[in-house]
Amino acid sequence: MKVYKFGGASIKDADSIKNVANILQQEGTNNCLLVVSAMGKMTNAFENIVNAYFDDEQKIQETILFVTNFHSEIAQNLFPENHKTHQEITILLGKIVGFLAQNKSKDYDYLYDQIVCYGELLATTILSSYLNHVGIENTWKDVRTLIKTDSIFRDATVNWEETEQQINSQIDSSKLTIVQGFLGGDSKGNTTTLGREGSDYTAGIFAYCLNADKVTIWKDVQGVLNADPRVFQETQLLEQISYEETIEMAFYGASVIHPKTIQPLQSKEIPLFVRSFINPDLKGTKISRGVAINPHIPCFIVKKNQVFISISTLDFSFMVEDNISHIFKLLHQYQLRVNLIQNSAISFSVCVDNKFNHFDAFYDSIKSSFKVSFVKEVDLYTVRHFTNETLNTIDQLGKSLITQINKETAQIVVKQN
Ligand code: ADP
Ligand code: ASP
Ligand code: MG
Repeated sequence: MKVYKFGGASIKDADSIKNVANILQQEGTNNCLLVVSAMGKMTNAFENIVNAYFDDEQKIQETILFVTNFHSEIAQNLFPENHKTHQEITILLGKIVGFLAQNKSKDYDYLYDQIVCYGELLATTILSSYLNHVGIENTWKDVRTLIKTDSIFRDATVNWEETEQQINSQIDSSKLTIVQGFLGGDSKGNTTTLGREGSDYTAGIFAYCLNADKVTIWKDVQGVLNADPRVFQETQLLEQISYEETIEMAFYGASVIHPKTIQPLQSKEIPLFVRSFINPDLKGTKISRGVAINPHIPCFIVKKNQVFISISTLDFSFMVEDNISHIFKLLHQYQLRVNLIQNSAISFSVCVDNKFNHFDAFYDSIKSSFKVSFVKEVDLYTVRHFTNETLNTIDQLGKSLITQINKETAQIVVKQN
């Protein structure tokens, strides 16, 4: 059994969908399960519907029209005029309108999952129909009946026992099956999601439950590179990486693979390949048990838009457990994810992600108990397997506020010039 994951970039338009069909024809489709994300940047477009529903009702129609046109246009380029897929798309989009009309809940996260899921439902419907249309027989499955989760909307936790049971009883591993990435279902029949970019994780879940021989994630890059090509000009392909090294890289913020994907694969030693859907003849990257990293070169990870905070006591007491635990409680309460910590006798510094924009509220709640200074909009560079030369290059990017060096990892907080 092999599991393939096709992300948004690989199915962003009609030509990309035809390319997926070509890849499948080349690679073979027996004993294969496809995990598919929403097309292109559609998840953001579905988020706009949710935001309009809560903040600006007049925009609802416009945001729905945007996703309608996007999918209809792709379908027009793939299917004849009277093909059943056009109607299936209309029905799915109609369900969004119907749901919003009768919804009474004010729970943003709940509503988010009930709406955003249509990105994956539409993408898989279109891809599955197209593959059948060109003779690649397949079965479409609703993943919400397979991946069972709790009811923590937007960040659901998988119930492994139930999921394994559902997958093994519902999936015929000798055939080609298509499922949605990113989605799950709770015990009450609601849709849940596994967190943004969660489709890679879906592939890991299926591979684990089906004891797959391998997982391939198809990307618009050659494979895993030693740096994000959107930020760094010169990058090199990593041919082989161990599970542990990949987890470290994902943990520090390498956004090419969702961090939760690796552990299920590692526990059953299922290899993960990252390959290019643009050039499927290339070998890409293999993630498996074995050498940590080949070639052994420095890897760069950057997290933008962080806040660097320095905290010291007002009464010159030492920065020890009770103070630190109080600070951590507040960081947790305001959802400020800590990416670097350094403490000395009298001060405590952290670099945090202000993803939910709660920093100002955090500052208001802490400023009367501690002396706090901060720098907003800093970048956190992490270099695995650093050399002195690589550290110098980062130092030149701006004013470095703090550098922390461990055996294999250097982290530098930089305020850009
Ligand atoms: P998907 O279509 O599967 O959702 P993503 O867009 O989430 O794909 O991930 C692929 C992108 O990740 C690449 O286009 C690349 O810009 C970015 N990326 C960030 N870090 C790396 C890295 N270390 N190696 C390769 N790509 C990376
Ligand atoms: N479509 C979802 C997202 O954009 C999940 C994924 O693509 O992995 O976050
Ligand atoms: Mg993605």
